[in-house]
Formats: sequence, structure tokens, C-alpha cells
Amino acid sequence: MTNNSEKRTAKLFSATAPKKEYLDRFVAFVRGKYGEDTAFVWVKDETLGKGFRLEVGAHIYDWTEKGLLSQFEAHIREMRHTSDSSIIPLLRDSVQSWTPQILAEEIGEVLTVGDGIATVAGLEHATYGEILLFDSGIRGMVQQLDRDKIGCILFGDSELVVQGSEVKRTGKTAGMPVGDAFVGRVIDALGNAIDGRGAIPFTEYRPIENPAPSIIDRQSVNEPMETGILTIDSMFPIGKGQRELIIGDRQTGKTAIAVDAILNQKGKNVICIYVAIGQKASSVSQLVENLTMRGAMDYTIVVTAGASDSASLQYIAPYAGCALGEYFMEKGRDVLIVYDDLSKHAVAYRALSLLLERSPGREAYPGDVFYLHSRLLERAAHLSDARGGGSMTALPIVETQAGDVSAYIPTNIISITDGQIFLESGLFFSGQRPAVNVGLSVSRVGSAAQTKALKSAVGTLRLDLSQYREMEVFTQFSSDLDENTQNKLTYGKGLMYLLRQSRYEPLSQFEQTVLLVVALGRVLQDIPFERIDAFRRGFLAHIERTAPELHALVKLNAKVDADVKEQIIDLAKQYKENAGFSGDIDG
Ligand code: ATP
Ligand code: MG
Repeated sequence: MTNNSEKRTAKLFSATAPKKEYLDRFVAFVRGKYGEDTAFVWVKDETLGKGFRLEVGAHIYDWTEKGLLSQFEAHIREMRHTSDSSIIPLLRDSVQSWTPQILAEEIGEVLTVGDGIATVAGLEHATYGEILLFDSGIRGMVQQLDRDKIGCILFGDSELVVQGSEVKRTGKTAGMPVGDAFVGRVIDALGNAIDGRGAIPFTEYRPIENPAPSIIDRQSVNEPMETGILTIDSMFPIGKGQRELIIGDRQTGKTAIAVDAILNQKGKNVICIYVAIGQKASSVSQLVENLTMRGAMDYTIVVTAGASDSASLQYIAPYAGCALGEYFMEKGRDVLIVYDDLSKHAVAYRALSLLLERSPGREAYPGDVFYLHSRLLERAAHLSDARGGGSMTALPIVETQAGDVSAYIPTNIISITDGQIFLESGLFFSGQRPAVNVGLSVSRVGSAAQTKALKSAVGTLRLDLSQYREMEVFTQFSSDLDENTQNKLTYGKGLMYLLRQSRYEPLSQFEQTVLLVVALGRVLQDIPFERIDAFRRGFLAHIERTAPELHALVKLNAKVDADVKEQIIDLAKQYKENAGFSGDIDG
């Protein structure tokens, strides 16, 4: 696999294998002209007849019989325009004045242009995804190959592209500059700095579309990617290299979870990439300010294609972010990438496809919208040790309408990812934030990537919560409950309060482990719900002050022993009494 789109390959097509001495001459010619590192391949093509065709990027040397004939034909036509002699002298003159043109650079013509799309005629050999160069210096990417024209999306001001003007092939697929200096910067979908801090030095170009690592290049996901959010790390743990969807209606705290996860990587040697697609510029600048203020821009890159940018830029933004991520992953680093959000990405792609006159399918999305996201998310991986052991964890975000997870785009992405964190407006407005619906959320890689300590502390948390939810529904209608049921309800509701967590307040694995031991040890039972938050803070501070030795006893890579659990529970009970947290529950 070549990662460098700058590296060229010369292809020699002919019906029979060329003799060695010819081959050597070709190779010498190509290397002399296009650089010593140009790869050279011979391709058998029996349709060519006599002669050969050599392709190097957009340069085509057509010396097949057919090619020469058509060149000669074009030459006669031209002569005919310029001379008025009759056909026989014209032919004689033509033969004398004609030398076969070796170099043929393919040049096409703009047929139509509008809405960020151009159709082009005459570039027969252009390939899907190839970059075309327009007269005005604007670049475009081939998106649609028809029999007699190609459709191309434009990056830049489409007003500058005029009908009838020239278009050239570049022989390159879309790539973007990458390098270590991108860390800490805000860039657009083409890799240009937009933070007003000048151009970014880069080390190489990478194609924005790249095949995902193969199975043998991967290893299983087995290290936790800590988010610092108790609900997630305890019940839906995310592993390095995993893809976990964050899904929910608008304004349910989706971005907040992703941002908290980024903030929690501070000091953990992880590169974070936040790709903003179709968002308001003001929201993005607020987010950048926020990350800067909390010291997270030291290890974060923000890629943005805003609501006011063209659909083409919004379409390529996540691939550009992914290319940057791959650069770091292949250097053995751990990367966390957030795509916020893929619903807007799909909408941008739908707009492009409709403009390219592709037939609309379900919900008017084109038929290949599934592939759009699968080829993006498949690039998240935990590379094998032979490939450097780096990883890229993806947190795609999807916005639902009225909680409908069975719409087209949500079902697609749910099936591509390794689980989802489902956020619910109802919970959010009732004050349960993060508003994670425990029943509908899942992490399919999950506990393989959870620290042993946390795993042993979580116990029956999920089961207890789902029991609580069921009971809650049934008991809404009856007022007098037996004591056992009442206890279970109090316990469940206490757990829900424990899981409430403000933004920007990540909990370490140690803190999470301790809190879970305490909660499952039924210590919260007689604390009024609204004081659980204060108890949690107070108790964690209390441990730091009075029992720092617990840090050594709770080893993250081992189970928490029963006697250590007991010690924690005793400590919590004491603190509860002394700090006056126990009291009657009025709920
Ligand atoms: P959008 O659909 O507009 O992108 P979103 O789902 O990404 O919204 P956010 O922007 O993350 O939601 O959050 C919406 C609001 O809820 C914000 O004002 C945010 O500060 C608040 N919020 C999110 N999470 C929490 C939390 N854990 N505690 C308190 N407030 C929160
Ligand atoms: Mg958001």
C-alpha cells in the first residue's frame, strides 16, 4: 500500500510483452523524466493491436496504431482549416508536416457548472476520485463517470469556473498535507489553517480515501479508551480502536460527551481529532475556545467544514480528518477521532448526489450512502504490533428525529459501529445528564477493554438499573408499596443520581471504581437523592485526605479484593455518618 499520493506509477500497455531491451529503455525514460522512485508496471492489453500506450499520471504516450491514426486524423482536420488546397495536396502536405506527438496531456472542457458541481467532457481516462484542475486554478474531484461526461465536485468558488473553459487531469487522487505540526491547529477540509496562525509545515501528503487496515494488520481491541464519564466507562466501556456511536435527538448532550472524552485524554498521550461537519462557525469557535482554555488543544486538531461551506467540503471533511488520524496511528500513536455529525454528512452527500443526477433511494439518499460511512469507519483500528501497534478510536455522532433510531442513516451507522451510546431527551430534561438510556446503549467490544478493577466493581449495575426502570413503570400507578419494593426503588434511583455527572468533571478509573463499590454496597440507601452529588464529591476528597493508601490497594489491573471492598464501604459509611449525609428520604 502506498500512502504517498505523490509517488507515481508508470503503466505500459501492450498486446505482447515488450522485449527486455525496449523495457529497459522505457524504464530509463520514465525514471529520467518523472523521478527515480517512479514505479513501473506492464499491463497486457490485447485490444491494443500493434504498438504501445504508456501512462504516467495524466500524461499519456499513445503510440498504438489506433492512437497514431487518430492523431493523424486530427492533424488533417486542422490542416484543412488552415489551408484551402484540395484533398490530394493536403494529404501530401499533411504527411510531410506531421510528426507523431508523443506527449498527450488530456484536456477536457467544462460543459456545465453550478451549485458546486461541474460536468466535464473529453477526459476519457479520468478515474473516480481523481483531482481535476480547472482554468481558474480551482480544483475538483471526479465523482461520477458517465459514458460521455464526468461529474465533478468543486472545492472553492464555483463562480470562477466558466462553461467552455479547459480542465486538466492531475493523475492524483485527493490528498491532504499531514504532519506533526497539525496538532493544536484548526484547519478546513483541505488541510489549510483557518486559525489565523499561518501556514502549517507538513511532512507528507496522504490520500483522503485510503483502504482500511486488513484483518492481519489488526489486533483485538483490549485497552480502555477512558472517557472519564462514569456511565460510559462502567457499563459501555470503549476500547482503543473501537467505533462507538453517540446517538440522540438534538440538544441531548451528544457533543458534550465527545468533548468530555477529549478533555479526559489530557496527559494520556492520545492525539484527538474533532471533525465538525455542517456546524455553525460560532459553535466551532466556542468549542475551540473551550478546548484551549482547558489545555486540550495541546493534543487536539479541529477539522471543520461549516454550515456555510460547500457540500463538497462537508463531504470530504471526515475523510480528511481520518487521513490525519491514520498518519498518527501508523506512527504507533493512539488517536481519538470524533465525527460531529454524520447525519449532516449524509445530508451533504445527498445534496451532491442529487446535483450529480444520481437516482435517489430511501429518504432520497443515494444507494451508496451505506458505503459512504462504512468505508470511513472501517479505517478505525487497533494495528498489530508488526504495524506499530497504534490505534484510532472513532466516536461518530448521529442526530435522530424524535428518538427514531430506525431511520435510514441511524440504522446504517448502528450496523457499522461496535455499539452505541443512546441519549434521550426525556432523561435530559428530567435532569439525568448525561442522558444515557442504559437499556438501548451497548458496547460490543466493551468489557474486554475495561480495567479489571472497574470490571470487578461494576457487578450487577446494569441489571439493577434495568430492574429499576421496569419497576418504576409499574409502580407509577400504585401508591402503597411493600418495603422490599420501596427499597429497590430507592436503590435504583440512587444509582441514577450517582450517574449524573456535570460536564468537564471527568472521574479517574480509581474514583469510578470506588464510587461503584460504595453504591453497590448499598451505602447510598439513606442519603437524600439531591445530596448524592455532594456526598460523592465529599467522599472522594475525604479519601484523598484520610486514606490515600487506597490508591495502592485498588490496583487497576487486578480485581478489587472483597476485603478492600469492605474497607471502602466502611470508610463510606463512616463518612456518611460523620458528615451528616444520612437522613430521611423524601422521594
Ligand atoms: P446539538 O444537537 O445542537 O448538536 P448536542 O446533542 O450536541 O446538541 P450539546 O451541545 O452537547 O448537545 O449539549 C446541549 C446542552 O446541554 C449544552 O448547553 C450543554 O452544556 C448541556 N449539557 C450537556 N451535557 C451536560 C451535562 N452532563 N450536564 C449539564 N449540562 C449538560
Ligand atoms: Mg452537538
